[in-house]
Amino acid sequence: MEQNINALLEQFRAVAANPKKAMEDYIAETGKGVIGIMPLYAPEELVHATGFLPMGLWGGNRSISKARTYLPPFACSIMQQVMELECDGAYDDLSAVVFSVPCDTLKCMSQKWKGTAPVLVFTHPQNRGLESANRFLEHEYAVLQEKLEAITGVKITNAALENSIQIYNENRAVMREFSHVAAQYPQVISNKDRHAVFKARMFMEKSRHTTLVKELLAAIKATEPQPWTGKRVVVTGILLEPDGLLDIFDELGLAIVADDLAQESRQVRVDVPEGNEAPLYRLARVWQNMYGCCVATDTKKQRGPMLMDMVRKTEADAVVVAMMKFCDPEEWDYPIYYRQFEEKGIRSLMIEVDQEATAFEQARTRLQSLAETL
Ligand code: SF4
Repeated sequence: MEQNINALLEQFRAVAANPKKAMEDYIAETGKGVIGIMPLYAPEELVHATGFLPMGLWGGNRSISKARTYLPPFACSIMQQVMELECDGAYDDLSAVVFSVPCDTLKCMSQKWKGTAPVLVFTHPQNRGLESANRFLEHEYAVLQEKLEAITGVKITNAALENSIQIYNENRAVMREFSHVAAQYPQVISNKDRHAVFKARMFMEKSRHTTLVKELLAAIKATEPQPWTGKRVVVTGILLEPDGLLDIFDELGLAIVADDLAQESRQVRVDVPEGNEAPLYRLARVWQNMYGCCVATDTKKQRGPMLMDMVRKTEADAVVVAMMKFCDPEEWDYPIYYRQFEEKGIRSLMIEVDQEATAFEQARTRLQSLAETL
């Protein structure tokens, strides 16, 4: 059984580590292209319905040099990486890149694209409580749909879109279950492997990813959960990479029992609602229903209570804030939920995430102190 789990995990690790190969395999197999999806959110179902592969563009782990010409040093770490990859032509085989622009950095990036792929920009309205915001976004998606049809040469029918919505909703449900099960089996699913399963979903056709995750879940559940002698943490932020950081969590026995990372659980938090309304309208409703994310305006500031609820449900010992270097939206949220944690006695620690980093000694020291004091 252990062998089977490892063989399945190896497939996720391979895809997560080599998106270029995943892209080339998909093109060779289907004859269709690949469309880049910039962080944080986009109606990937529209791309999926064309038969093209939606592929997440969440940076890398390169040394930054060319990007310095186009971005100020205080642009967030992930966009420095994306710009460096653009300059190196890493995205030139994409048929297009879909961009939502909920923060200033993304707005600039959408206007400064250096690759050869066409850029398809749309706007998420920030006054999310209004019905007119849903209608506005539905219209944005209709424009995006037209552009995608022109680029891919595929007419997106309502039936194809409904099918893609169903595939994505199923994948989200399976990933929520995976997160839950991984928390019960930290000896079986390391933090690094947990991340690989999430990361692979950005580079795989979703029904395939779902099938593989289901197999993994069945294999894990066939084993007995063992008592965990380490500590349990919830992580929050944009993402928690490079792998060197996750290795430290593993070495210190800090099991990630739930996450609020934009690259991971925020992607699967909200389903496309069912109903008789048009699929584009229901896709738009996802944005209205989104919660606990720094780029989705929340006047009630519910991120702190949401994180505390996650701590309670998972019996976590602390929250680790993975602060993306120079991410304004994340930095603005932090003092609010930090104060809420203090008021309720929730332990927390902030570490900085710099995708360019190759050494993590500062984070190691801080995480080690947290582990020791818990
Ligand atoms: S939300 Fe933060 S990490 Fe994402 S692009 Fe904007 S500034 Fe960068």
